[in-house]
Amino acid sequence: KQRKKNLESRGPPPSRNSHVPPHLVKKRDELLQTRQTLPIWPHADPIRERLRKNNILVLTGETGSGKSTQVPQFLISEPWCTKTIAITQPRRVAAISLARRVAEEMGSYFGNQSPAAKVGYSVRFDNATGPSTKVKFLTEGMLLQEVLRDPDMNQYSAVVVDEVHERSVNVDLILGFLRNLVAEIEKGSSRRKQPLKVVIMSATADVEGLVNFFAEGFAKNSGQPALPEADKFISKCFVEGRQYPVKTHYLPQPSMDWVESALKIIFQIHYKEPLPGDILVFLTGQDKIEGLEKLVNDYAEGMDKEMPKLLALPLFAALPQQAQQRIFQPTPRHTRKVILATNIAETSVTVPGVQFVIDCGKSKIKQFRSRLGLESLLAKSVSKSAAIQRKGRAGREAPGQCYRLYTEADYKTLEERTTPEILRCDLVQAILTMKARGVNDVLNFPFLDKPPVESLKEALFQLLRLGALKADGTISDMGLQMAKLPVTPKLGRILLEAARPEKDCLLDVIDIISALSTEDSIFFNVVTEEKKEAAEEARRDLYRREGDHLTFLATVQQYADEETDRRAWCDRHFVSHRAMQNVMNIRKQLRQQCQSLKLLTPADLSKESSSSSPNTDAILTSLLRGFVSNTARLAPDGSYKTFVGNHTVSVHPSSVLHGRKVKSEAIVFSEFLYTNKAYAKKVSAVQMNWVEDVMKEAFGI
Ligand code: ADP
Repeated sequence: KQRKKNLESRGPPPSRNSHVPPHLVKKRDELLQTRQTLPIWPHADPIRERLRKNNILVLTGETGSGKSTQVPQFLISEPWCTKTIAITQPRRVAAISLARRVAEEMGSYFGNQSPAAKVGYSVRFDNATGPSTKVKFLTEGMLLQEVLRDPDMNQYSAVVVDEVHERSVNVDLILGFLRNLVAEIEKGSSRRKQPLKVVIMSATADVEGLVNFFAEGFAKNSGQPALPEADKFISKCFVEGRQYPVKTHYLPQPSMDWVESALKIIFQIHYKEPLPGDILVFLTGQDKIEGLEKLVNDYAEGMDKEMPKLLALPLFAALPQQAQQRIFQPTPRHTRKVILATNIAETSVTVPGVQFVIDCGKSKIKQFRSRLGLESLLAKSVSKSAAIQRKGRAGREAPGQCYRLYTEADYKTLEERTTPEILRCDLVQAILTMKARGVNDVLNFPFLDKPPVESLKEALFQLLRLGALKADGTISDMGLQMAKLPVTPKLGRILLEAARPEKDCLLDVIDIISALSTEDSIFFNVVTEEKKEAAEEARRDLYRREGDHLTFLATVQQYADEETDRRAWCDRHFVSHRAMQNVMNIRKQLRQQCQSLKLLTPADLSKESSSSSPNTDAILTSLLRGFVSNTARLAPDGSYKTFVGNHTVSVHPSSVLHGRKVKSEAIVFSEFLYTNKAYAKKVSAVQMNWVEDVMKEAFGI
């Protein structure tokens, strides 16, 4: 009875707003019922009350309990909420799909659809917010960029930090900045006079750790011991999940090929288990996902016609929006969905209808290889806590089953928790952001986990080498500009180098950096031999002997110059049209950003194509300035050795420089890949004396 009363009293007020078209209102009313069944729904009032009393709330609740979608809606009509609510996400996919969902639930337009849209999102190279945006989903990186322009976060009434358990470097920085800001507001030493409400949300986090962390911030201010103060400032809320039992199966023997093992189990489930009950498979990345998708489709064709159908749906970060949205659509009749996902489906995106989980036990994680001074993505075993999260995905709506593609003995050897990114990653971007925000003493920044001094030092040195810091360790003008550009510090340095009058090749370099920044591959990976030849032939007029970067430039310029039919041009050249559209969008945004930093004039912006005969020396030496550590020289035995550290790297087979008979004396590369050996990917040939010159400038030797 009480629950019914709650439901009645807590529904959103019916909209009297005649501007909202009926189809949106209808959808909103339909969705209200589903929202009311979410575990978080009965917590709406307590959450509101706590935030009226205190400025900080630590909210924990199982994935799928409704935190990300409901909390902003609970807060939107609170008396203190006069401005926008920001909700940060570690991934752009989640930011966009949550914004879309919340707009539907609120019966509002979304993003750029209308100036009246109340819900928007902001991710790198794509800002879809407007004058009426009240709820804004944004990636952690975007919030950090905003903090540089607006340190007091004046545009927001509340900042909701979601998915804190993922412990990305960016979330750790945000928590540190927020802790300082909230304490300053409390003390009255901030320029901001209005309170800022902060909600920290997490699926598994250690609540006390977070509470203590914020309490320490207040204690530092007041000189009081931390804990007795905590309750005065910080509220807690725990949303109990709804979890049905999930049975775990292990492989009896370690698997040699887990794509094949996954395939076997998918069909075993499909033959044995009645509908409904979708399958969610955790794999490491796009290549494995696409491989398994093809296998599932091939085998499904051979199934008996009477059998229910199988619908394979991939889910990974670089997948285009529409394709991602398909996983939320109801399963068609007489069909079983098989979702093939990266760890994005672990906590970030909740897929409805799943009853079976197949877990390969690995995920790709960023790992800083200090020996090489480079960061790379490596497939590593997940932690026990991640394996448990993955398993839990099978028991959200009914009892489920989880098939682990490893042995029980292997499970026992897994680490308890995933190591926070800040303890294992390259910190260059993070330190640059801190320095640009005026944090000079990075060693004393409030980190939830203090990164190793070694990696802090390494990052400081890199920034010195890039010219982002002055010799005394404070930020230089160049560093400030680099921090404001939405690219890594290395790429930022390259843009600034290209803008110098003696180089004067910024438009061309923007084209190259746009091509490097798209997540999709520009050149299709052609599989069959005959197609390979055709593709080589078709791409011949794009390939440049200087290497991949100038090849990208030629591709972007020819595409931009193509006026009649860009899609047909792409088909002819075996180039991905989707990737190129993305490149053009990034290029437009980078040109605007460079204009706002006064690196380009409005006249430059109107140029469709950059230049007909690019100054290749200027372009390559600009690239070298940023990628000064990513260089290698030709050794007498024909291999390449890096200048920093003297490690062997091979030119990746996807490079236009691969397999050259006459090798260049030195190379610069923008990607590094470590599989069975170390590969330089996206490579250009450069002159030795150029490398020596930038080395001198960067290292002072
Ligand atoms: P939490 O943040 O606690 O993990 P969410 O608020 O993300 O929970 O999800 C609540 C519910 O909303 C889930 O059942 C999920 O399936 C649904 N949902 C979330 N995003 C979308 C979307 N884009 N389309 C359809 N349903 C969605």
